[in-house]
Amino acid sequence: MAKKQFKAESKRLLDLMINSIYTHKEIFLREIISNASDAIDKLCYRSLTDESVGMAREDFRICLDVDKDARTLTVRDNGIGMTKEELDSNLGVIASSGTRLFRDNLPEGEAAADVDVIGQFGVGFYSAFMVSDKVTVITKAFGEEQAWKWESAGADGYTITPFEKPDVGTDVIMHLKADSDQEDYSAYLESWKLKDLVKKYSDYVRWPIHMTVERREWDEKGGEDGKGAYNTISEDQVVNTMVPIWQRPKSEVSDDDCKAYYKEHFHDSTDPVGVIRVNAEGLTSYKAMLFIPAQAPYDYYTRDYQPGLQLYSSGVMIMDKCADLVPEHFRFVRGVVDSPDLSLNISRELLQHDRQLKIIAGNLEKKIQSELTRLMAEDREHYLTFYNAFAPQLKYGVVGDYGMHKDQLKDLLLFYSVSQDKLISLKEYVAAMPESQKKIYYACAETAKRAAALPQAETVKAAGCDMLCLTDSVDEFVMQMLGKYEEKDFCNVTNDDLGLESEDEKKQAEEKAEQSKELLDFVKESLGGAVESVRISHKLKSQPVFLTTDGEVTLEMEKYFQSLPGVPEAERIKAKRVLELNGAHPAFAALQKAYEEDKPRAARLSMVLLAQAQLIAGLPLDDPAAYTELVCGLF
Ligand code: ADP
Repeated sequence: MAKKQFKAESKRLLDLMINSIYTHKEIFLREIISNASDAIDKLCYRSLTDESVGMAREDFRICLDVDKDARTLTVRDNGIGMTKEELDSNLGVIASSGTRLFRDNLPEGEAAADVDVIGQFGVGFYSAFMVSDKVTVITKAFGEEQAWKWESAGADGYTITPFEKPDVGTDVIMHLKADSDQEDYSAYLESWKLKDLVKKYSDYVRWPIHMTVERREWDEKGGEDGKGAYNTISEDQVVNTMVPIWQRPKSEVSDDDCKAYYKEHFHDSTDPVGVIRVNAEGLTSYKAMLFIPAQAPYDYYTRDYQPGLQLYSSGVMIMDKCADLVPEHFRFVRGVVDSPDLSLNISRELLQHDRQLKIIAGNLEKKIQSELTRLMAEDREHYLTFYNAFAPQLKYGVVGDYGMHKDQLKDLLLFYSVSQDKLISLKEYVAAMPESQKKIYYACAETAKRAAALPQAETVKAAGCDMLCLTDSVDEFVMQMLGKYEEKDFCNVTNDDLGLESEDEKKQAEEKAEQSKELLDFVKESLGGAVESVRISHKLKSQPVFLTTDGEVTLEMEKYFQSLPGVPEAERIKAKRVLELNGAHPAFAALQKAYEEDKPRAARLSMVLLAQAQLIAGLPLDDPAAYTELVCGLF
């Protein structure tokens, strides 16, 4: 029979497993048991709504069987099983996202250096090949008549053939490798060793793990001489305590245990930055273990990402991703909630309206909030890691739902400070404000460097004030939504009144504007509708011009609206542009002179000034060639 080939990357991983010099090969058992447990979860979940499963919760079990003569170790489950197609797609390719990451991290052609990666997260079914030279999987899927046998001796491929198996479920039969100088594979045939491994890695698996365990018992009348001897007694034992990690007392479970659990079950290769454990008793009692990830899953900012927490009722999973348990703005949180108060047979629809669930969700939201606040205050390094991954989510949270959550989220935000040259919170900004400063200054640009180089930034700095640089397209909406922070107005330095000029300066600028009114009208006309108005500015120091806006829509917002796909040009929201001229700059004097002596030249100078203002604002020129010609025409 023709062998099927593994998919390319699976083959690579398989090679790695077979030739592994990884010292913790024993983790294969954890992986195979964890798959068995998942398969039982699935069938048990099914049994809640489908009577034809015909199994009670007590019937589910995992068995470890050893055949010393055949050198095989079998992990048997009565879970959901696999169809022929599932065998092909699940065991023929790498399934989990964790292993996908693993693959991405794999340096070309290098195996030995990768062995550390193996220990970092679950590598699944293939790990069986670290200890076996052949693996046989016999499985019958729930609802199918036919059972199947999958078999592979490694990288040269696998076969799938029909097989006889009366009951639904899966047997994974591992044909152990021969012992070598370095490795004692025969140990995996010893019940004491297997028991140890289950205790070490799989103790909290929620289903009973059965095993035949040999025990020595003193028999007083035993022995040939009847003076007593030890008898070896074999008996079936459940070797795990079955208490899930979140049900165990905090004192028994270390932070590292929690992190390992997270990586294994939520397919992440990095430790979470925060672990939240809740043990609530009272009207609604529940236990929860939540995790704040350090990195966003690759699909986090897409529609494919499914938020939600795993929901259990007394150890039985009733929902894999219960989205109602976490608010939208904290949808990055992963974890488990277990409450005996939730009735088991409630349908998903009913669940959504469950009062208990709302109470739990409300409490968890507060816990998440306070853990993030704590991290921000006490462990800024980890908070920054988290913030790098999820800042956009928090910011959407501020602007979403008509700003309903803004007060809750505002202190979790960080922005780049020009004075401190790092990300700081609004609270930290306000705390560092000199007494005379009344507003919170910010500027928007593509990069912090650009924002800091804006002409108005000079004015703000000269007044001894710090400025925040906003580089995310959503940032400006965030500031508008917040409106104020601790009674201080936000001030966009390119648009709003900085409130820094003295009365004298203001008066001077007004007088200058009055005197130059005719000239300003002329400039506006020469620009043919490109700007809404032209003004003398009192904000500019060394720069001759600047482009700003009137009204709600700023240039940064316009850029954002422009970037949205599918909106016809005519319907795009545009900013009302205002050209500000520095009345004290030599360029202004030259413009004035030209206006008096040579009007066509003054019109050309106006256009050059507008182009310069556009460049400073980070906007493209409509017609760069025409601009070059214009400038050359002035020589
Ligand atoms: P992961 O468990 O991380 O998805 P694995 O390589 O361990 O990756 O397993 C691949 C897939 O094979 C699983 O997702 C599951 O669908 C299927 N599978 C593995 N073992 C079993 C089993 N004992 N019963 C049913 N399905 C299984």
